[in-house]
Amino acid sequence: MVNHPDLPESSWTRRRLLRVALGAGATLPLAALLGCTRQGADVSASPATPTTTTTATPPPTPNPTPTPAPTPVALTIAVLPATLGTGEAMRLEVAMPNWASDAKGTFRFDGKQYALARRADGSLWGIVAASLDRAPSTSLPLTVEATTAAGLPIGSGSRNIAIVPVQRPIDYLQVTEEQGAVLGGDAGPREEAIRQQQFASFDPAPPRWNGLFQRPTDGETTTEFGWARSINNGPVGAGHTGTDLANDAGTPVHLAAAGRVAWTGPMPIRGNAVVVDHGGGVKSGYHHLSAINVAVGDAILPAGTVVGAVGSTGFATGPHLHFEVTVWGTNVDAMTWLSVPFST
Ligand SMILES: [Zn+2]
Repeated sequence: MVNHPDLPESSWTRRRLLRVALGAGATLPLAALLGCTRQGADVSASPATPTTTTTATPPPTPNPTPTPAPTPVALTIAVLPATLGTGEAMRLEVAMPNWASDAKGTFRFDGKQYALARRADGSLWGIVAASLDRAPSTSLPLTVEATTAAGLPIGSGSRNIAIVPVQRPIDYLQVTEEQGAVLGGDAGPREEAIRQQQFASFDPAPPRWNGLFQRPTDGETTTEFGWARSINNGPVGAGHTGTDLANDAGTPVHLAAAGRVAWTGPMPIRGNAVVVDHGGGVKSGYHHLSAINVAVGDAILPAGTVVGAVGSTGFATGPHLHFEVTVWGTNVDAMTWLSVPFST
């Protein structure tokens, strides 16, 4: 089998991952902090106006029934899967009382706050990820809070989440001097600067897909997600941020799930790239493309849309698609999304 390209992160990240590979725990900050805006609303009752007309006296107008202050309830958080693996994602579902049809909410996990999305059935939905180098934990608290659109409290809840380590192998990659030159100079910092642009904001819409993601192209999986890499027998570096699917140059690349194009253009290492926002904090990325067929500003695209063609731009030893899925900017194993419904 022919080995395929590496996508090392910045040298800083590489050093950090190397430390983890050697046994030291480290945390990677999860991405964007989303706030929850509350809109205040006053409910005033108009007093009945006395009447002095000489005709038949109408019955007094009753005061409008005041809105009862809801009693905050204990919210139950359902999760899928039951534990959160390193380099994996977890879906949250929070059922709402019948009267809370306009609910909105947030959740806190691992020191960050994120938005919950309201689904069509009134429940709240969220998603969280553990980075490849996240230290395992047997019990990490996750809390949710929900309010009405007017800011009245609906309730809160909490549960403990276990972060379990996922063991992944080391990939020893041999590249030519010409291929390796792509990684030189300031390629790493420039790549990271582009990544920050790509994950600076998120579509606040609820998930735009239901069920499973689709495999974006046929072809052999040549390097799986999360494999740490040694290039030309050098030190073991960062984990692979995506899944490599090898195929002939020019083979169509299909959108894995419905979404809106968030970014397109060349990247020093990932080559020609398309990043699509699927709502709810989830994005997918398609890299090393030989052609890009979509643009920022396009309408919401359905799953299966041809976003580009397989290529070998950037750091690549042959034509293949480097396919990524991110949750709030944290890379997770995209292949899991082909078999686990993170949104239903
Ligand atoms: Zn790759």
